[in-house]
Order: sequence, then structure tokens, then C-alpha cells
Amino acid sequence: MWITLSNVADRLLVFAKTNPEKGASGISAFILERGWKGLTTGSIEGKMGVHASNTGWISMQDVRVPKSHLLGEEGEGFKIAMSSLRQCPLRRRRRCGGCDEGLPRRIDQICQGTADLGRPIADYQLVQQLIANMQQSIDAGQLLVWKAGWLKNQGMRNTRETSMAKWFCTDAANRCANDAVQVHGAYGYSDEYNVERHLRNSKSAVIYEGTSQIHTLLQGVPRPRRTPGPSHAQRNAACDAGYWQEEA
Ligand SMILES: Cc1cc2nc3c(=O)[nH]c(=O)nc-3n(C[C@H](O)[C@H](O)[C@H](O)COP(=O)(O)OP(=O)(O)OC[C@H]3O[C@@H](n4cnc5c(N)ncnc54)[C@H](O)[C@@H]3O)c2cc1C
Repeated sequence: MWITLSNVADRLLVFAKTNPEKGASGISAFILERGWKGLTTGSIEGKMGVHASNTGWISMQDVRVPKSHLLGEEGEGFKIAMSSLRQCPLRRRRRCGGCDEGLPRRIDQICQGTADLGRPIADYQLVQQLIANMQQSIDAGQLLVWKAGWLKNQGMRNTRETSMAKWFCTDAANRCANDAVQVHGAYGYSDEYNVERHLRNSKSAVIYEGTSQIHTLLQGVPRPRRTPGPSHAQRNAACDAGYWQEEA
């Protein structure tokens, strides 16, 4: 189990099957407290990146959880997990945006330098192509994040939009970081210019909070029919603006 901050957190949110026959409706959420008998945690060492963040494991052996530590109602665990996932990836996209936004600025500096043939690196069209692709990803990702955030601010459901933003922005950040290493040449492969750190860190975001494959699957699920919802002013506004919405 890879759990962010599990080795330092005072409380841990755990989902468990309380009624396996009921599938997703048979999962409940519990808050566990550090120090409880049977609950142990530790740090995971040897990570490729995100060294500034503790990632750890949790082990539970016959842990007794009082009823007072049930979060929500019994059977609501899946709903709670999904509601938190609707927002977490959005914050993550903002951070990935920051990661790949910083790279073109960094690359602008390196492009002032000259390559082997004495021409500025920025003169090469194939290098310009890499930078143009980065800018394209950043602008498109920004719009996806804004769209998901706008829907949230309207109090509207944004599950699909957040998933799309997470999928696109994390893939884009990783792609941009990889191209940044390329533009730096051999220096990109060293820790001198920090771009290799972006490559290592951005890879983790492609994995957690739903891998790219899982978000691809979510987008592939057939969409429910969109209804105009004449009594719902905000929904109408979103439909007018061209935003697709799931049925509530
Ligand atoms: C730095 C870091 C921090 C993390 N923090 C947390 C945390 O705080 N909380 C938490 O709950 N988890 C956390 N995780 C775990 C993370 O959520 C999981 O690693 C991630 O969901 C993938 O699960 P897995 O590792 O079990 O891979 P698997 O599920 O075994 O997947 C392996 C591969 O198979 C693919 N795959 C799996 N299922 C399908 C499918 N149906 N169709 C197509 N392809 C599929 C995956 O995309 C992946 O490429 C963290 C991970 C990392 C790296």
C-alpha cells in the first residue's frame, strides 16, 4: 500500500468492505487513529521522485474500530471516496500545471545558449516544435482545469471533467518534462539544471489518484443522455455554455 503521509498522519481514512455481497454499496469509510492496537505504519524508501513528500504503508491486524469512527453511514464508503476524488485530482492538476509552466521558462534560458554548431538552440525548428507542443499542452490543460473548477463553483457535478483534467494534465506534465530533458541535451540528464527532477516527480502523478488507464476507462463509459433541466437555472447556463453534464 502506498499512502501519502501515512507514517506521520495522526488520523487515517480507511475504506473497508462491510457487506461484500452489495458490491460498491457494501463499502464503508472509517477514521483510524495513530496509536490504536494493531495499527502500524512505515515509510516507503527508494522512490523515484517526490522525495519532499512522505509516502508510507499501513498495516492493520485485528484493529477494533468504535462505531463513533464510522464516517458517514454504513455503505457510503464508495460515495465518500468518489466525492473526495472529484476534488483531489483538481488540486493536483493545478500543481502539474505549475510544473510544466515552469519548464518553458527554464527552457527559454537554456535556448539562449548555443549548440555544437554555434547557433542558438532556439534557432532549430525541431527544438521550437518541442516548445510549441509544451505550450499547447499547458494552455489546453489550463482550460480543462478551469472548466472543472467552474462547474464546481456553480455547485454542479464535475466528475467527468475532473477526471479528464487529471488524465490530460498529468500526462502532459510528464511529456513536457521528458521533452525538457531532451532540449537540455546531456545537461538534462544530470541534476545540474533540475529538469530531471520534473521528469521523476511528474511520473508519480500519472500513477496516483487514478492511473491514466483508469481515467481513460472512465471517459469511455457511455454518457447518460443530457436533459435540458428547465427548472435548474445553473444547469441551463452550463448547457448553454456547451458543457456536458452527467445526470445528478
Ligand atoms: C507517490 C505515490 C503516492 C501515493 N499515495 C496514495 C495515497 O495517499 N492514497 C492511496 O490510496 N494511494 C496512493 N498511492 C497509490 C496509487 O493510488 C496506486 O499506485 C495507483 O492507484 C495504481 O494502483 P497499483 O499501484 O495497485 O497498480 P495496479 O492497479 O496493479 O495497476 C498496474 C498497471 O495496470 C493498469 N491497470 C490496472 N487496472 C486496469 C484496467 N482495469 N484496465 C487497464 N489497465 C489497468 C494500471 O493503469 C497500471 O498501469 C500512491 C502512489 C504513489 C506512487
